[in-house]
Amino acid sequence: MSNYNWCHGPECHTQHTQSRIRGSGRDKVLRTIKIKQGRYNYNNDNSLYWYDYFCNQSCLMDFIREHLTSVIAIAPRREAQETPVKVEKEKYENYRYEWNSGVNNETVRVPYQATRTIIKSVDND
Ligand SMILES: [Zn+2]
Repeated sequence: MSNYNWCHGPECHTQHTQSRIRGSGRDKVLRTIKIKQGRYNYNNDNSLYWYDYFCNQSCLMDFIREHLTSVIAIAPRREAQETPVKVEKEKYENYRYEWNSGVNNETVRVPYQATRTIIKSVDND
């Protein structure tokens, strides 16, 4: 018992591909792609995946473009969210390359002291 969805892409049925052609004789139609649910569900779970509702990313983006205002209205963000973290700076030895700067125009590897930023998660109860 397989379940299917019709692709939700608003322009899906207008794309000129052989897989969309239906009908007999000369008069045919381009039909919306029929998608088998779970077709790429490698985790074998019951999660919802966008590719169960859209045949490809182009149809997904067409849908988002057309319905973005409605989608945002479902869960509007009116203020920034924040995640508490600890930030540390760490010095380390790095190298840069100076092209053609050697005695015989060779590339020279020059060491320098670099700094990296480390962002650490903290428990936020
Ligand atoms: Zn589609």
